[in-house]
Amino acid sequence: MTSSSPPNPDAVLILNPGPSPCFAHSGQHVRCAGGQITEIGDHLRPMAREHCIDAGGGALLPGLHDHHIHLLATAAARASLDCAEGDPSHLPQRIRNRAKGSNSGHPDPTWVRAINYHESIAGELDRHKLDEWLPDQPLRIQHSTGSMWVLNSTALELLDLDALDLKLNDHNRLERDSNNRLTGRLFRADELLRERLQHTGNMQAPDLTTLSRELARFGVTSVTDTSATNSQAEFDLLHAKQQRGELLQRVRLMGNALLPPKKLPLIHTGELKLLLDEAALPDIDQLIEQVRSAHQHNRGVAFHCVTRIELAVVISVLSATGAHPEQRDRVEHASLVPANTIEQLRELGVQVVTQPGLIHSRGDRYLKELASDELEQLYRLRSLLDNNVPVAGSSDAPYGPLNPWLTMQCAVERRTLGAAQIGAGEAITAEQAISLYCDYSAITPGQPADLCVLSKPWSDATARLTDTVVSHTLRGGELIHTPT
Ligand SMILES: [Zn+2]
Repeated sequence: MTSSSPPNPDAVLILNPGPSPCFAHSGQHVRCAGGQITEIGDHLRPMAREHCIDAGGGALLPGLHDHHIHLLATAAARASLDCAEGDPSHLPQRIRNRAKGSNSGHPDPTWVRAINYHESIAGELDRHKLDEWLPDQPLRIQHSTGSMWVLNSTALELLDLDALDLKLNDHNRLERDSNNRLTGRLFRADELLRERLQHTGNMQAPDLTTLSRELARFGVTSVTDTSATNSQAEFDLLHAKQQRGELLQRVRLMGNALLPPKKLPLIHTGELKLLLDEAALPDIDQLIEQVRSAHQHNRGVAFHCVTRIELAVVISVLSATGAHPEQRDRVEHASLVPANTIEQLRELGVQVVTQPGLIHSRGDRYLKELASDELEQLYRLRSLLDNNVPVAGSSDAPYGPLNPWLTMQCAVERRTLGAAQIGAGEAITAEQAISLYCDYSAITPGQPADLCVLSKPWSDATARLTDTVVSHTLRGGELIHTPT
């Protein structure tokens, strides 16, 4: 890297990017000023007080967009104990060690927060089992699906859950035994849990500094935060974190019906998120009403959809409402897509937002648990793209791997952590995999200067995407990652 002195943060010249889908030939330089791409050409020369980056033939790409992530949950998960790590029989001891440790940096330091639990580790959990592991400090463990939390008795008491006068809907989220006593198992109760943690002074918002810089290192300049519970409070919180430089990425914030339409330079409101849960499906007419109302307010919807029945619900709801003429509705995950629904998805004009990285991180378990027809339908890519269904890529962090390059490589190879292959026919090219995260045509004068420079030429980078190193990342012309 060469740099003029002093660098003017408002003007950057990127010299010598190599050929790629963004540029047919080498010798093009790119100038950014005032937050936008202002000039592209082979005649550009450095100006006084302009910061120069010599790409040296490395590929230049638009900044990557992670289309499905939960920022606050990811930061909290990183400060949590991962149940899936290490020998399963050591989990109780690891929890006790964590309880004894300082737990510093954790958003709620007296608590032990554990994540990524699966029954294969130590069977079904309830408060009694957790009390055996940790009787006198609050403990909460999240299931790997993200849909269940289990709390020990100390935690239940601290949150005063038993005494709460709950709405009927919230009642159903708290499981009770035959003596009407809480079992400690909470289903799809994130909003309730968070409300109780805040109300009882047991939670502060996690710090996003480290997570945001890691995303910048991967070339990620913007994200869609897809938490169904997002409302005005999360909008204000994330905006404040951007203002003080803690959060570097632009945010498109999906959320609940109370999230008002709002657009600021770095954050704006996205779709209405609708959770579908096969075990407790909402009334179809009510869903149709919610979608119609969102469309009337010029807002798209995004369905959380992992099973085939959930997909059938999405298709019947959207068939009834029709697509919004401008706002594209989304199917999040589309984990299982039967072949005969692909054409319907295309006709409905919905976008599938998928996570091929889960083939990597969870694939070996899928191979044991799923039937062969299900494995064929899992996290499809090629059959969707070939049939002109728009597809976007994402991490679903904290539930899937954060690194977009690992996810892209998984889209190309379809390999599990144990090197088994799932759905080889759904593999796509490296060029297609990268385009799940960016639009190659976005490097054009007048577009925001959200860019990333790779340390390697295009042909080397696409040969093995997981080895990709991003040397520089710019968001709105501002350098948010540089070589150390
Ligand atoms: Zn998610």
